[in-house]
Amino acid sequence: MPTAIITGASQGIGACIAKRLAKDGYDIAVNHYPSDGDRANAEAVAEECRAFGVRAELYAADVSKYADCEAMVKAVKADFGSVDALVNNAGITRDTLLARMKEEDYDAVIAVNQKSVYNMLRLVTAVMMKQRHGRIVNVSSVAGLYGNPGQVNYSASKAAIIGMTKSVAKEFGSRNITCNAVAPGLIRTPMTDVLSDELKAKMIEAVALRRYGEPEEIASVVSFLLSEDASYVTGQVIEISGGLSM
Ligand code: NAD
Repeated sequence: MPTAIITGASQGIGACIAKRLAKDGYDIAVNHYPSDGDRANAEAVAEECRAFGVRAELYAADVSKYADCEAMVKAVKADFGSVDALVNNAGITRDTLLARMKEEDYDAVIAVNQKSVYNMLRLVTAVMMKQRHGRIVNVSSVAGLYGNPGQVNYSASKAAIIGMTKSVAKEFGSRNITCNAVAPGLIRTPMTDVLSDELKAKMIEAVALRRYGEPEEIASVVSFLLSEDASYVTGQVIEISGGLSM
């Protein structure tokens, strides 16, 4: 069976992608942040994946750290034998207006959202090059395409992911490795639960479909981009925002 690594898969969009790819028939490497809470959540996700008859194992790694990613990719390769698909999903926010944004708020978001993608891309493309096959999806955001007040750090990290996606698509295309990005809009997850009702209502006003997106609606597009149906799609950014930007 093909193997997929999903970073930050203990909850939200990552958990949903893991389950969708298990349903699609992938063995799943469930990455989670090394904390007890994330481990417990990730174990529940892995259990749901196994219900589809595939293997699912947990890999604790802080993806902002290269050494953690290196150990994880090595372990996945040893456990499953190949890495066929990678979804760079882990992400955080430290939202505040630029005037109040501390250096540590900037650095933390860049480390988790952007440096992690470099770490995983570098390590996993080395495996995929030898296989002469690979499928990668990076989770960006509409904030990376259009910017957002209070998200200078976050939009910088998410815009960077788009540049990385296109560069990797060009660098590795001849090795039969595709690399695409998705740019979700407002999706119902623990990340957006913390926003005020007023802000949520204002944001939904700008969405043509006038509602939140569900994590399943991200997972289905990721599933397509990893599938053979998308074999001639690479270097693209698919916005999944209910028509936020028209
Ligand atoms: P979430 O907070 O529910 O989940 C994020 C996951 O990343 C969690 O499982 C968390 O433990 C993990 N994570 C955080 N730091 C990590 C680290 N250093 N190492 C390993 N794992 C780590 O958020 P979500 O809404 O599910 O977001 C998933 C992705 O989608 C993120 O990249 C986010 O930026 C992006 N996104 C979300 C929305 C939205 O509206 N929810 C919109 C656009 C983009």
